This record gives sequence, structure tokens and C-alpha cells, in this order.
Amino acid sequence: MNSVSHPSLLHAAVDRPPVLPGATLGVLGGGQLGAMFASAARRMGYRVEAVVDHADCPAARHCDRVHVGLLDDPARLVELGRRFAAVTYEFENVPVAAARALDGVVPVRPGPNVLFTTQDRGREKAFLVAHGLPCAPHAFVRSRDDLVAAVTRTGLPAVLKTCASGYDGKGQRRIDSLAEVDAAWGALGPEELVLEGWVPFACEISVVAARGLHGETVTWEPSLNHHRHHILDCSLVPSGLPAATVDGARRMAEQVLEALDVVGVACVEFFVMADGGLLVNEIAPRPHNSGHLTIEASTTSQFEQQVRAVCGLPLGSTKLRAPAAMVNLLGDCWELGEPDWNAALAVEGVSLHLYGKSAPRPGRKMGHLTALAGSVAEAEAAARAARRALARGAVG
Ligand code: AMP
Repeated sequence: MNSVSHPSLLHAAVDRPPVLPGATLGVLGGGQLGAMFASAARRMGYRVEAVVDHADCPAARHCDRVHVGLLDDPARLVELGRRFAAVTYEFENVPVAAARALDGVVPVRPGPNVLFTTQDRGREKAFLVAHGLPCAPHAFVRSRDDLVAAVTRTGLPAVLKTCASGYDGKGQRRIDSLAEVDAAWGALGPEELVLEGWVPFACEISVVAARGLHGETVTWEPSLNHHRHHILDCSLVPSGLPAATVDGARRMAEQVLEALDVVGVACVEFFVMADGGLLVNEIAPRPHNSGHLTIEASTTSQFEQQVRAVCGLPLGSTKLRAPAAMVNLLGDCWELGEPDWNAALAVEGVSLHLYGKSAPRPGRKMGHLTALAGSVAEAEAAARAARRALARGAVG
């Protein structure tokens, strides 16, 4: 654990006493990340209320109360905010205006400026460059002519991405030749876009990190991540990468949280190059899918840590209890009917998490399986075997 103390932060913390169990916390967003935050917070004795789009959402089952449809109504949100001792969010597309308004009556952690930077790929890239943090070669695109110039600058292949509202590969288009420029512009323009040179990475990792009210930071062991169709499929910890890469990634994640002045949990995703070099791909200002395995595998889960950080409590240990693997369960697992939960849970070391979503659409994250074992290879084999077993013998 690395502790950083800034006198100014310590001074500020005197005016910000910890939010103790019994208080009511607000969470903006109603998805599975909000549900797992609420579940951790209620275990610790807090009341939790979520501000959500739909009453029938994963967080609703874990909260004391949900409030529907207030995110676009800052005045009502501020009124509601007076009920809370602290507010956090579980997705980065919360309107910044709403977060700023709310922050006037109750601490919003991480702060609205963190949201402002990380909810837009363009601003996030500018932040990384300004702080000397390495990222993929890129150029901003506002017109078709910009795109042609950008392609010349970054080279091909490249990937064109919308600055706003992109996740799980949505709002992205790969460009392999000049002949594809018009089609890519037609598909994504005239929104604000960023063109990234294609990175020939060796693998992808992520570091979940937390920063407390006093400026102290902790990181979990990086997770090695495999994607399928741009959606996270499997996370493995430990990553098996050399110590220099692991330490470099943890340090860089700390730097990101410090530079952004995060109070809370955030995740930094990296491309790892063949020579061990690291490029920051993306920053999420909240717990991350690749950190779900911390629930079983670490002394403190990313969700308990979010509660601790947001409430100004001491951060917990991020020590790994055992090698672990997590596989996502997408709606595709329901293709052949109700999955065989019995068969999956018969696999030793496996835990099931279902988010309570009613419609199992292909590509939709419905739940995940985590396996702990004596080695990461055994944990991965167990998690994958359990997922295959869901399909009653069909290959999963
Ligand atoms: P993103 O939503 O930007 O994280 O992209 C989703 C996934 O697409 C990443 O995890 C990578 O596997 C792939 N990807 C995105 N950008 C690039 C890039 N510039 N070069 C290579 N692969 C990329």
C-alpha cells in the first residue's frame, strides 16, 4: 500500500469528517455496479438510495429506496441530495450538470470534474497527454477532412471512436484502408470523434485503484483481460506478467487517480506491448467489471472499498487471497433456454453472481462466475468449465 499525504488535503479532511454507518448514501445509476455497491454498503450498516432510469433495475433489489427519472432534473435531484450524507455513481454518463448541482449540497465522490474528464474520450486523451501518461497515437476529428488528415497522421489500420457515450466497443469503427474512410465518417460523423492508431498490443490488463479522502492510494494486482467482440469475457489474477510491468501499471494507475484528484474507486485499462511498455487505453471513474473477482479473491472488494473511500473511512487491504478467474455471463448463455445453474455450481471453487435482469439479450451482461483455485490456470479452467456446464454440454 502506498500512502501519499498532502498537507492541504489533510487540512481539508479536518472539515470533512467520515460518513459513518447508519447514514444514507446515494448512488446515481441502477445497474449491477450500483447493486454490488449497495449490497456492500448495506452489509456495513448504511442505508442506500439509488437514482435510476427504471424501477426494474439490478440496484433496486439491493437498495432501501429507488428514485426514478431524476438525472435530467437537477433541481429535484438537489432536493433529493439533501437526504444523503455522500453520493457516488456507478456509470460515467451521469450528466455533469446534475453532478455539479448535487455537489453543492452533498459531497459527490469522485467529484464532478472526474466525471467531466472521463466521460469524453477527447477530454480523457487530453488529460493523459497533459500529465505525460502514455496512450495510443490519436487525432481529434470534427469533419471528413479532419479524418483524412488524421489517418495520414496515425497511419492505418486505425479505429475511429465517438468521444461521448462509447462502451463495450459501441461507437467504434475500424478503418483498414483509405477506401473505408467515407463509410466510417458516414457511420459515426458528425459527432465529435477521435481517431486512434491501431495498437499491436501483446495483451490487455487493468488496474482497479482507490484513493481516500486524505490522498492515500491503493491498487489491486492487475488483471489480465480477454475480450470477445469488444466485451470483457474473462479476467485473470495474477496476470503472470513480469514484476516490472505489474509495478509500472500499478504506479501509473496511482498517478492517474492523483492527477484526477479521485476520491473513490477507478479503473485504468492498459495495452501491454511486446516489450512490456504500457499505454493507457481507458479510465473508468468507478468499480470495473475486471474487478468483480475482488469480491471473493481479495481481503477488501472493490465495492467495499468504494464505500470506504466515498465515506472517508480508512481504505482496506487489497491483498489477494487466492488466484482467481472471472468469466462474464452474457444474455447469449440463455440461447438454449434457462442455463443449468446446478451443473455450473457443481464445479469446485465457483461462485455465481446474477444481476436480476429480466431480458437476456445477446451481449447483455447478466451475471458472472468467479473461481478461486491454487493457480490461475486452474481457476480459469474451473470458471470456463462452469460456464460451459450452463449450456448442458453445449460448447460455451
Ligand atoms: P474501448 O471501448 O476503447 O476500451 O475498446 C474496446 C476494445 O477494443 C479494447 O479493449 C481493445 O481490445 C480494442 N481496441 C480499442 N482501441 C484499440 C486500439 N487503438 N488498438 C487496438 N485495439 C483497440
